[in-house]
Amino acid sequence: MRYAIIADIHGNLEALEAVLKDIQGQAVGKTFCLGDIVGYGADPQECMKRVRAVADLVVMGNHDAAVSGKLGLQYFNSYARDALVWTSGMVSAADLKYLGELPLMEKVDGFVVVHSSLYRPEVFPYLLTAVDAQLCFHLMDKDERVCFIGHSHVPFAFSLDEKEIGVSREAEVTLEDGTRYIVNVGSVGQPRDRDSRASYAVYDSEAASVETRRIGYDVVAAAEKIRKAGLPELLAERLFEGM
Ligand code: ZN
Repeated sequence: MRYAIIADIHGNLEALEAVLKDIQGQAVGKTFCLGDIVGYGADPQECMKRVRAVADLVVMGNHDAAVSGKLGLQYFNSYARDALVWTSGMVSAADLKYLGELPLMEKVDGFVVVHSSLYRPEVFPYLLTAVDAQLCFHLMDKDERVCFIGHSHVPFAFSLDEKEIGVSREAEVTLEDGTRYIVNVGSVGQPRDRDSRASYAVYDSEAASVETRRIGYDVVAAAEKIRKAGLPELLAERLFEGM
């Protein structure tokens, strides 16, 4: 089975549409979303509609949790907070309810998906270092060869064999027998690795491979909508920088 795994869309409809179009050419059987459908971007409601229409499985991101009242705004910086307050007024009551009822993690078909980490997913810690990765690896079941995450908006892969933890920033990762992986698929709507293109991953469970794909989209249009909505200027500017 081939899976498209998308994360951190953040109300960026231009980026989401470009990614969904690319997915159509990838012969995937299922599309999973790792959360943060909303927050930061100017099209939260439209993104909700698209994701709910295409995703076979969705887990909760910290912005999804905040906008639906499950996580306090004190956990966010002022830009994120302003955007969350604005977003909560733009999303339908039915979609807010949906966001608030999403699971934090799901185990499926020999792998696991979570927004932040398997270690205390309810407080959404960042998984950035080998130590963070170790905590997450410990919580993977024996039959799970890969854990897909989002949250930092930076695509990378940690691997753990019987000896040590490795890290890769290659776009293609081949899953070796006896090694387990944590793969961050990057962000659709607000990449932060100095590449402005949208990021998502295709996991092929038969071929045991993960490909991170980068898709260009109309950044100018997405940024313009953020400005028109009166959201913080920084949220528009950072899309061009990929930061
Ligand atoms: Zn995010």
